Amino acid sequence: MNADLHCHSTVSDGQLAPAEVARRAHACGVTLWALTDHDEIRGQLEAREAAQALGMGYLAGVEISVTWASRTVHIVGLNIDPTCQTLIDGLARTRNGRSARAEAIGEQLAALGIPDAYAGALKYVSNPDMISRTHFARYMVESGYAASTQDVFSRYLGDGKSGNVPHRWAKLADAVSWIQAAGGEAVIAHPGRYAYTPVEFDALFGEFIDLGGKAIEVVTGSHTPDQYREYAEVARRFGFEASRGSDFHAVEPGRVDLGSLPPLPSFLTPVWTRWL
Ligand code: AMP
Ligand code: MN
Ligand code: MN
Ligand code: MN
Repeated sequence: MNADLHCHSTVSDGQLAPAEVARRAHACGVTLWALTDHDEIRGQLEAREAAQALGMGYLAGVEISVTWASRTVHIVGLNIDPTCQTLIDGLARTRNGRSARAEAIGEQLAALGIPDAYAGALKYVSNPDMISRTHFARYMVESGYAASTQDVFSRYLGDGKSGNVPHRWAKLADAVSWIQAAGGEAVIAHPGRYAYTPVEFDALFGEFIDLGGKAIEVVTGSHTPDQYREYAEVARRFGFEASRGSDFHAVEPGRVDLGSLPPLPSFLTPVWTRWL
């Protein structure tokens, strides 16, 4: 089983259309796939149809932006029903405010000597509701303001950097409840990316369990190999099932491709066994 249960298309901040991501996943050897666009499920029908045509297993997915203890956490929902109205309405509320925030990011960047970045970022957006920092990064790299996406985030747009505008996303309890209403399982995405203290991490995992959350990502393109081991241990300690996903956005040097990560450690229970 080569499961890749986390990646993005043009429906959010990826560079390939859902069917193109499906073809690339299949060509890379993925046998069970989920497209998990940020705060948006409009790509799900195209993704499922493309996966079916290729004979590749498919789980409907989403990655919801959450604010917990003043920081952003991402919650992946897997095996969701994309026609669930509770989920559709919750995601619409979560997307609300992205445009105003993007205009504010444009103003901050102008003050830092990068004019017209909002208009520039918009040129890379195919879903106007879903403008994100990634689109600004693409504009800034292609206009020569930065050397790479990573360079943009470390100098301008990362959390706490002067070009970023923090946003208040969904509540953890709401995101988990929308996923559950849609019949899916909630998964804490790339826990290694959050700058919480050990006490805060324990509180986050505890609250997630109390809400009915059962899984975390262990092997993800957003973790280092050391973090695979660290979060495998966390999964064992808290009794979480484990997920695996590339977090693929685009074909880019230095970024992880679909289906190419190592397998989960064998002592963990993969989250997908419940759907096989
Ligand atoms: P937003 O939802 O607008 O806050 O943008 C978040 C997106 O920016 C994430 O989904 C990633 O694709 C991207 N991102 C955030 N931090 C980084 C980083 N340090 N390096 C590269 N991409 C990042
Ligand atoms: Mn992204
Ligand atoms: Mn994420
Ligand atoms: Mn992601």
